[in-house]
Amino acid sequence: MPDITPTVMLSAEEIRDRIAGLAAEISRDYPDDEEIHLVAILKGAFLFLGDLIRAMPRTVTVDFMAVSSYGKGTSSSGEVRMIKDLDTGLEARNVVIVEDIVDTGLTLSYLQEILHARNPKTLRTACLLSKPSRRKIDVKVEYIGFSIEDRFVVGYGLDYAEKYRNLPYIGVLNA
Ligand code: 5GP
Repeated sequence: MPDITPTVMLSAEEIRDRIAGLAAEISRDYPDDEEIHLVAILKGAFLFLGDLIRAMPRTVTVDFMAVSSYGKGTSSSGEVRMIKDLDTGLEARNVVIVEDIVDTGLTLSYLQEILHARNPKTLRTACLLSKPSRRKIDVKVEYIGFSIEDRFVVGYGLDYAEKYRNLPYIGVLNA
């Protein structure tokens, strides 16, 4: 059976423009002579990270962490498990967590807690998408790309059963 074509919620152009704005906001918040260390959460944030850093003409470093998420379904188990840890430490660094979407907030609050324990100089969070109506934990996210309603979205890194990550836009499957 062929895959369903999602309905566009955010176009590639809207995403690109908003990410340029986010990159400028983040850059402005750190002195020019300080490095920013971006910690991207796999797999969903890989395109967001790629576009974000290309819109930040300053010294940045990157690392990756993977945590368990929805698996093959579209509802959260509420359980967060680390699958891949960072390659380097965070001591005295300006760390920005780069995440695809904040939904209940469980994943981010877990991540912020374990990364905070590694003594970064600063720790902030950038999320491309937020679904505020779904929040279970009041997690702090300094940089939010778009606030969206409670729909299951795919594309631009986000999957359904590992598919659709390659879409250049963000869409809804069952529109
Ligand atoms: P939370 O812990 O905030 O409930 O969920 C965060 C994770 O759930 C995200 O990193 C993402 O992997 C997954 N997730 C939440 N909402 C969506 C959605 O609408 N689409 C997709 N593809 N994943 C989602």
